[in-house]
Amino acid sequence: MEPVDRSTIWPYDERGEPGQFYYSRYGSPTVAEAEARLGELDGGEALLFPSGSGATTALVLALLKPGDTIALAEGCYFGTSVTFQTLAKWGLRYVEFDQTGSPPDGVQLVWLEAPSNPFLTMPDLEAAAAHAAPVVVDSTAATPVHLRPLEHGADFVLHSATKYLAGHDDALLGAIVFRSPAAADELRTFRTRTGIVAAADPAWLLLRGLKTLEVRVRRQTETASALAERLRGHPKVRIVRYAGIGGLLSFDVADGDAARRVETSTRLIVNATSLGGVTSVMESRHRWEGDRVPTGLLRLSAGLEDPDALWNDLAAALKKA
Ligand code: PLP
Repeated sequence: MEPVDRSTIWPYDERGEPGQFYYSRYGSPTVAEAEARLGELDGGEALLFPSGSGATTALVLALLKPGDTIALAEGCYFGTSVTFQTLAKWGLRYVEFDQTGSPPDGVQLVWLEAPSNPFLTMPDLEAAAAHAAPVVVDSTAATPVHLRPLEHGADFVLHSATKYLAGHDDALLGAIVFRSPAAADELRTFRTRTGIVAAADPAWLLLRGLKTLEVRVRRQTETASALAERLRGHPKVRIVRYAGIGGLLSFDVADGDAARRVETSTRLIVNATSLGGVTSVMESRHRWEGDRVPTGLLRLSAGLEDPDALWNDLAAALKKA
């Protein structure tokens, strides 16, 4: 693996002409290498951004204009709707719809999430691809190990690379993978001009993470499936949501107090936010999302610990529910 290149400048050639890299806002070797690798995984052309939310902002600002409306999958990552609300004063609108069916007419962009976080529904990609508007799939929780949305008619794949792709809870990064090289070029120019540019260090951590992506995600999927099944048979658990792929699941206990007792009682599973890292984390989502989620909803991201040890930890914590 190449060492990280933190330079912001590279010399012009002997004729005084800029080479491939000259100023890091326009492009840099470590970021470009990580983009090439991710592009191969998702089957398109990838661009990196400083976070998943930064990628979301860049994409909608570059594609849409004031008065345009996004059809947003209901129950998807709540921060995406917060980003769109923040952009409302620039004339951006969104409507929510059930992504297991067809998107509504009269929208300029369709935004899906596979699977949705924290409700774990899978989008109907075929129905979305039949819509006139371009389709974005936030595939953060599925990863290219389980889903390559461009092969199902999506135009753009979005990742919070902070999660499974980098995978170790030490890099904040976002990515968009494009079906059309021309669209990627347009966004590259937009990125340079607006300065929404990823740094070399997190890109290097992404490169390192991608080397183990497949083994991590396969193991996390096995663990999450096993935990989902055991949770389904637990008397304190009311509902379990799991899409059958990936390491993310959610389940409900009786109410907010029970959820707080459970999340603060685990010893192996860390009571923290985020998902997709090698360490298992669990949290009540009501603290962030309010009444958008049931008060007793707990979101669990399976890490790489021993699955039986995770279940014993969870079962002991559920005694407090
Ligand atoms: N998309 C999904 C599905 C997420 O879970 C998150 C973060 O939790 C984001 C996007 C935003 O990513 P970031 O935190 O890297 O800005």
